[in-house]
Amino acid sequence: MRNKGFTLVELMVVVAIIIILAAILIPRYLDVTESAKTAKCSANQKTLEAANGMYMADPLNTDTEEVADLANLAPTYIVQLPTCPKGGTYDIDNGYVTCSYTPTHDRNF
Ligand SMILES: [Zn+2]
Repeated sequence: MRNKGFTLVELMVVVAIIIILAAILIPRYLDVTESAKTAKCSANQKTLEAANGMYMADPLNTDTEEVADLANLAPTYIVQLPTCPKGGTYDIDNGYVTCSYTPTHDRNF
């Protein structure tokens, strides 16, 4: 009479396969989310620099220097101030926006 169900060896093989897949996929998923956050932060910096450009080019604006506080750009030159997905804060210097969380991270685009 054949026993219904799985043997212990079969169950151990299935569990081992699941563990191997998790060991491969979880670090890859974490890398992807981290690189997405870095890309989002870079995009936010570019957006703020563009809004600062509009601020400086605005003929109604008597101040031709860059904006003193990035918060002053909203809501006229940007609808809503972007926030860093890593929790950093943005600052502007000579037209370039930097993030306090990763001030030196590469900006590839
Ligand atoms: Zn950031």
